This record gives sequence, C-alpha cells and structure tokens, in this order.
Amino acid sequence: MKNLWDAAEASKYQSDLAQRVYSSQLLGRDPSLVLHGGGNTSVKIRERNLLGEEEEILYVKGSGWDLETIREDGFAPVRLAHLLKLARAEALSDPQMVNELATHVTRAGAPAPSVETILHAVLPHKFVDHTHADAVLAITNTPDGEARVREVYGDDVVVVPYVMPGFDLAKACALQFEKEARPSTVGMVLLHHGIFSFGATAEESYGRMIELVDRAESYLKAKGAWEVRATGPIGHIGHMGPIRAELATLRHEISECAGFPVVLSTHSDPQALAFARAADVRNVSQRGPATPDHILRTKRLPMLGRDVEAYAEAYREYFLRHAANAKETKTMLDPAPRVIMDGELGMGCVGRSAKEAGIARDLYSHTIEVIARAEALGGYRALSEKELFEFEYWDLEQAKLRRSGKPPVFAGEIALVTGAASGIGKACAESLLRRGAAVIGLDIDPAVTAWAGARPDYLGLTCDITSAADVATALETAVRAYGGLDMLVLNAGIFPAGTPIEKLGLEEWRSVFSVNLDANLTLLRECYPLLKLAPTGGRVVVIGSKNVAAPGPGAAAYSASKAALTQLARVVALEWGEAGIRVNVLHPNAVFDTGIWTEEVLKARSESYGLSVEAYKRNNVLQTEVRSEDVGELAAELCGPIFARTTGAQIPIDGGNDRVI
Ligand code: ZN
Repeated sequence: MKNLWDAAEASKYQSDLAQRVYSSQLLGRDPSLVLHGGGNTSVKIRERNLLGEEEEILYVKGSGWDLETIREDGFAPVRLAHLLKLARAEALSDPQMVNELATHVTRAGAPAPSVETILHAVLPHKFVDHTHADAVLAITNTPDGEARVREVYGDDVVVVPYVMPGFDLAKACALQFEKEARPSTVGMVLLHHGIFSFGATAEESYGRMIELVDRAESYLKAKGAWEVRATGPIGHIGHMGPIRAELATLRHEISECAGFPVVLSTHSDPQALAFARAADVRNVSQRGPATPDHILRTKRLPMLGRDVEAYAEAYREYFLRHAANAKETKTMLDPAPRVIMDGELGMGCVGRSAKEAGIARDLYSHTIEVIARAEALGGYRALSEKELFEFEYWDLEQAKLRRSGKPPVFAGEIALVTGAASGIGKACAESLLRRGAAVIGLDIDPAVTAWAGARPDYLGLTCDITSAADVATALETAVRAYGGLDMLVLNAGIFPAGTPIEKLGLEEWRSVFSVNLDANLTLLRECYPLLKLAPTGGRVVVIGSKNVAAPGPGAAAYSASKAALTQLARVVALEWGEAGIRVNVLHPNAVFDTGIWTEEVLKARSESYGLSVEAYKRNNVLQTEVRSEDVGELAAELCGPIFARTTGAQIPIDGGNDRVI
C-alpha cells in the first residue's frame, strides 16, 4: 500500500476543505480502498455565518459523489452541534435521520450528506477517512476475524462488531469509542464493513489510513494469504465455440424475471475463471458480499454449469423468494441478481446499463480477491442471511433505488449499427447511445473503434461485413460484451462513382451488390436468432435511399442494389412479424455532412446544377438541409415506442422530393 501524498501538490490546496478534497482524491485513486462511490471522508471546520456567529460545520462527502473525482461542492456542510445532539437520541428511524441531516445543511443545493454522517460527527477528530479496504475485509470476514484484527492492530484501533449502517451503527461506534479509545488510537475497524482513520490534518489522517491498511496487507502476506488469485484450474481460456445463442437466451430469461431488459457482460479473465472453476465455488460464492456496500449491486446466483434452463430456474426461484419478502415487508423490489459465476463462461455481470454491469464486475472482482484471501486465512465468512436481508430491504437503500428515477427509453437494450465509423451510421449510433442503449458499431474503417472514446456502452469493431466469418466473430464478441441484440441498423453501403450502363462491368455491379445487398442478407440471417430473443421485441432499421423511388442516371448498380435491399426488408418484415420483430426502411436523400461529400465535390455538384452550395443543400420541397443527425434521430425513434405498431414501412427523410411525392 503506497502513500501517494505529494507535498508540492498538496501545498496547492490551501484551505482545510481543499486539503480534504486532495486527500479524498488520493484515497479514490486506489480501487483496493474504495470503489464506485464507496467510502467517505469528512472535515470539521469552524466558520463564521452571515450574522457573524461562529459555528462548527462538518463537511462530509455527499451521496452521488466518488472520492476519486470529488470537488469542494461534493461535500455537504452540516451543523456539527445538532449532529452531536442527535447522536445522543435514544433511537432514530432512517427517514427521521435523513430528514435531520437534510434540514441541518447550511448550503442550499448541497448534495445529501452520507448516511454515515453521524458516525463522522461523533469521532472527536478534525479529519476522518473511511474506506472498505479489501485487505481489512479479508481479515474481518473470517470466523475469528475480531481476534485477528486485534492481533494486527493491538490498541491502535477500536474494534466495532457488525451493525447495519445508519443511526444504530453511529451509536455503536460512539459507545465503543468511548470505551476503548486511548490517546494512541488512530483508527477504528468495523467488522464486515471497513476501516476508519482520523487525524488533526488531512495528511495525518490519510497517512494513518495507508499505514493501517498496509499492516493488514503485511499480515496477509505473512500468513501466505496475499498472492492467492488463481485458486482453481484455469486450463484453456477463450477456446470455447460460439456461445452467443446461449448467452442471449440467458439474458432473455434474466430480463423476463427482472421485468425489464438488462445488459449481461461476460468476463473470462484468469481471475474470474479460476474462481468459477475452483471446486468450492458453489459453497464460497454463496456466502455473501465482502461489505454491505456491495450487496445491492452484486447479488449472486448459484453456480450451475452451462445450462440455460437451470439458470432460468434459479432466477425464477430467486425472483419469487424476493418478491415474497418484498410483499411481506412492503418494500420495493429490484430482483435482478447481478453476478453469475460459471465454470465455462467465467463471470457474468448484469445491469440496467453497460455501466451498471461494469460496476457489478468491479465490485465482484474485488469480492473474489477478498474471498480468496479470507479462505487462505482460514475460511471466508460474510454476513448472515438475516443481516443481508435487513440491509437489502433497508429504508435508505430502497430510497436510493427510488431516487434513481425513470430509466432512458433504451435502458438495458443493445443495438448493432453497420457502417458506424462516420456519417449516418455514426449518427445512428450516437442517437441510440443518447437513449441509453449499448451500441456495437461495425465498419471496415478502423476509426469505428475510436470515435466514442473510452465508454462502457460502446464497442466499435473493425469488420468487413461481406465476410461471413468476420460477421460471426463480431456477433460473438458483441454478445459476450452485452448479452444479446435488440436493434439492428443496416446502414453500411457503397456509392461508386457514376458509370453508364453501357460501360458497367459485372465486376463493379457485383461488388456494389456484395456490400449493399448480400452482406445485409448475412447480417439479417445471423442476427435473427438474437433478435427474436429481444426482451421487448427485435427491431431492424434499413437505411435505403431516395434512389429506390426516384433513381438517377449513372447509378444503376447503387439504385438496383438499394431497391433489392428494400424488397428484402419487406419480405423480412413479413417473415419476422410473428417473432415480434419490426422491420422498417428509411430513405434519406442529399445528406451532405458525410465523408464522401467533401467541399470540392459539393462545389462541383452544385455548380453543375447552376446552384450555390447553400441552395444545392436545400434543393427540396421544404428547402431544408437534411443532416446525418436527423437521420440518426429518426432511425432511433423508429426503434422506440412511438413506432411499436409499425412494420414494413418506408419513410423518406429528404426534405420532400417532387419526384417521389
Ligand atoms: Zn462504510
């Protein structure tokens, strides 16, 4: 465990709150300390209010902020005197506590104070740091965890038995602190939860956190419980045949139980595979998460082997059990488990978005490590079923779920767009991403892999769609990444320079047809088994062309291929309607903000019509410009609920064409 404090850097952070920001970010940089919004920090500052009165304010991490990226306005300022009075209350319900915290913040618009605020208040130190450090959890989550913690730290820390986070935990900590704290005490370990450190300065409190966690790591190393990643036979990795049909079936079943579409990402890295293949994984993986913070986001399913039916059965059982519990306790239900371990697939992670599935992956990867180390120490022991249940149905957690609000229209859905490196295809991908879908972009141009930057909901793959092998590989990769396919946008096409028929060779003809028509047949055929498993019904959007209804001279191969593609789409609409798959065609015209239309080409074309470039761009009935973005938006809307009862339609997007109307 490395201390990242940099004196020169730290000196740029002048005030106490700025120092708090700096050291919080240092903690946030280490995923073995805090992950995805986990952990929290605070500082107590004496301030003068508007009326000139002095008061002590606790600046505590606001919910919704990550330590790694927190800023000063990510801390909620709460009146400390009131918090200390609250801490002496006999009992406080969760809604009461949340209300008291919210109404004693001194800045309108501040984020909601962390649910661990009162705990921060009762610790009599200026700076307080709290993490769910993996190394500490590996020690506390064992049968003799408390004895081991005392062996590691002696009197340097106060040890608190497990209590569910909230007011009762704050009281338990205050009590234990009064009883056990000595002048030399530098921290507090909460069994099955995490660790606190404190100090007079940000540097001292941070340094103590690093030092305390480092001692836990040294202890694990001394006990041979540190380098324990691969606990099972790894054998071959990634040599499986195609599994996309099975994965898509599994995702379908999970979505059905959850009541909404989900993303299912599969990870067969050595750590996940080793854990999934370890002989005792069935037993170990069912013993609960490492810290309550991880519970909601990483519910687990039994290990069953690669048997979709059995998985579905387990899901149903899990769903019914939780539905019954929720009914009994009159709480909300989010029944979808988040992690599946499988000896062949490795780890499957579920979420309402690719981002959520990624969070489940990160959390469970750390849990795997904690479990492996605790096992090496003498046996992993998580919270009891009862404690897990209490936490899962805890008022505050349920409130958090309610706050997350209405999901975007394509939440949990997956779209594939061909020709996505630029122009209309890229615009379609962007429109689908904006509506919450995970998107796979295919293109022969490698730019398809990079334009979106690093984001979990986009996967760009270089692919020659005229190669059936390339398409199969791309689909396999896509389904391992996201679990299935709901929407298909067939956009890729070529528009060769004009050739009159008397000079049009068969080779050129065939090359245009191979991309504009044949490749789309392959894509449709290969995507069908996936699309018919789409939880809310598959959707296909075909990008046709104005040329279908109003062909142009010199574009025989292009116009004929797009006309054939349109006819193909109409037959597909007829054949797939029974499977709930909608197929519609868009006919754009004169979309000039694409790669083929350079300034020079535009200028030459408009001159040949005797028009200015501006007039040429608006040469349609509505005298309006049609941009890629407009086509992308319409393609996405075609996949949405407004068109839920439309299939086999052909819709122009061309500003109105007098030859078509
Ligand atoms: Zn905590």
